Amino acid sequence: MEMQMDFIRQLPTPAELKEEFPVSERVTAIKEERDAELADIFEGRSDKLCLLIGPCSADREDAVLEYMVRLAGLYEKVKDKVFIVPRVYTNKPRTVGLGYKGMLHQPDPEKGEDMLEGIIAIRQLHADIANETGFTCADEMLYPANHRYLSDLLSYVAIGARSSEDQEHRIVASGIGVPCGLKNPTSGDLSVMINSIVAAQNRHKFLYRGWEVQSQGNPHAHAILRGRVDKFGHNHPNYYYEDLLTVGRLYEESGAVNPAIIVDTNHANSGKQYNEQIRIAKDVLHSARYDSAVRDLVKGFMVESYLVDGSQPVGGGVYGQSITDPCLGWEKTERLVLDLAEQW
Ligand code: PEP
Ligand code: MN
Repeated sequence: MEMQMDFIRQLPTPAELKEEFPVSERVTAIKEERDAELADIFEGRSDKLCLLIGPCSADREDAVLEYMVRLAGLYEKVKDKVFIVPRVYTNKPRTVGLGYKGMLHQPDPEKGEDMLEGIIAIRQLHADIANETGFTCADEMLYPANHRYLSDLLSYVAIGARSSEDQEHRIVASGIGVPCGLKNPTSGDLSVMINSIVAAQNRHKFLYRGWEVQSQGNPHAHAILRGRVDKFGHNHPNYYYEDLLTVGRLYEESGAVNPAIIVDTNHANSGKQYNEQIRIAKDVLHSARYDSAVRDLVKGFMVESYLVDGSQPVGGGVYGQSITDPCLGWEKTERLVLDLAEQW
């Protein structure tokens, strides 16, 4: 036995899939404009609040699209103060590797895995959202080799807590043309996060999808604070004023450019008590209003939000409720976004 793996079928390359499902000229123009506005935020030319907001996982096109249409309506009311980049997470890291791994693996969460259908479904979802709402979105880069299936549609890329220490994620992030948020690892070690930012900001030569490639470095690689878990499995927040100052000091020592923090209000910061996201965002807002150095450093929030409060098991049957981490429902989300726009 040579290898414990069956090669089922060869899949289209990102270039082939992009040719088959091209992005319209209108969406390309929207992305360019939105990318420029986001670069202004991360380089400090704009002081709008960046909100990365949406479900933990984009589990079904109909409910996600409905959420995004509502969000686009809300955005009209706040866009002088807030820049919204919806979270459209199509692949999910799993703590023990089992369970729903996202639309990429399972276009229908209740059916089996189908990777060809998956890469088409995630491209379709991101394209439909852009066409219907004018939003270009954020996704997690869980598998670096897959990034280019969506690279002409994304305005933001996040690297998860379980991936930011990984060399391949870091060097591929250095070749991504949009802001890339690197989360602190689940252990909370901030030096790992800062090292990942330095690595992603540098140029690298490496092997990618069968090519030798040269990256230009990503000057908009930055920190996402998501809280930490200790050796007893207890959650500890890292959004407090002192945490923000510590990250600012580590940034100074590191020599990284464009120091920036996004505070993830869920995960180990809320202990997945999704309603706490409201208090956490307002606590950080208070820190930013208290100290202009913190205000310069904190560029925004990552919030887990969907149509219905909370979460359910796969197959639970509630339209618009998360099947991964519990999310803030629509009414509370609307209130939170309006409040943040008023108070930032
Ligand atoms: C997420 O953003 O849903 C996620 C899985 O985050 P983390 O990598 O911080 O656990
Ligand atoms: Mn989540």
